Amino acid sequence: MPSIFVGHGSPMTALEDNDTTRAWRRLGERLPRPRAVLAISAHWETKGVLITAAERPRTIHDFYGFPPDLYAKQYPAPGDPALAQQLQGMLAPYARADLDSWGYDHGTWSVLTHMYPDADVPVVQLSMDVRLGPRGHYQIGQALAPLRDQGVLIFGTGNIVHNLRLYDRRPGAPAQPWAQRFTDVVKAKVLAGDHEALIDYAHLDPEVDLAFPEPEHFHPLLYVLGAQAPGERVEFATDEVFSSISMTSVLVGAEPLKAAA
Ligand code: ZN
Repeated sequence: MPSIFVGHGSPMTALEDNDTTRAWRRLGERLPRPRAVLAISAHWETKGVLITAAERPRTIHDFYGFPPDLYAKQYPAPGDPALAQQLQGMLAPYARADLDSWGYDHGTWSVLTHMYPDADVPVVQLSMDVRLGPRGHYQIGQALAPLRDQGVLIFGTGNIVHNLRLYDRRPGAPAQPWAQRFTDVVKAKVLAGDHEALIDYAHLDPEVDLAFPEPEHFHPLLYVLGAQAPGERVEFATDEVFSSISMTSVLVGAEPLKAAA
């Protein structure tokens, strides 16, 4: 099973039909159908690692000031308590099951509602331990890698560049030069398989503090790279930078698209 890091952007994308959402839809159609999605979202950080273990995790509207339609939106995909239990074993004694404090946050459902619009693929979310540094996140990704052979889609959701303070909301606002450059630096390291440089992101670029004042939107990428086998094929399935948000997606281990006949 391939694995993927998706740049998710605004929660409103859940309701939209644009180039990004159409690319997510095509991904859902193109990838082998997963037995389950294991989501690592920028929007779930905890002390220790938690794993959603409910039969029917709830849809969380973890944002403020958006239209009522977005608050009405549900993503009713089933959970996968058996996978949650398996994960607890794989990450023992470190991870715990979570029955009701969390569910699916918008980092997960705003994308999956396009990739799997019928909400018929079970989803488990794994939280990111705030106490871990980048190498710790990467190592959990390594520990999760065997799940790929069991049909589980490892799905990181964040943004390589995420600076809301400097975000220009005007439609069509171009990429800020440093945002484009940082995205390009990260892509080059991903293509080179230079994971050490990405784990050491604090020294990746002089303007890393502009790229993300806080690292939680970058960290899910480290899980996906941790689960990558050496030399495995990588592709950028979406790759736009809007002002100070990068929507670049990193797809690992997928068959190349065949050229149209
Ligand atoms: Zn986000």
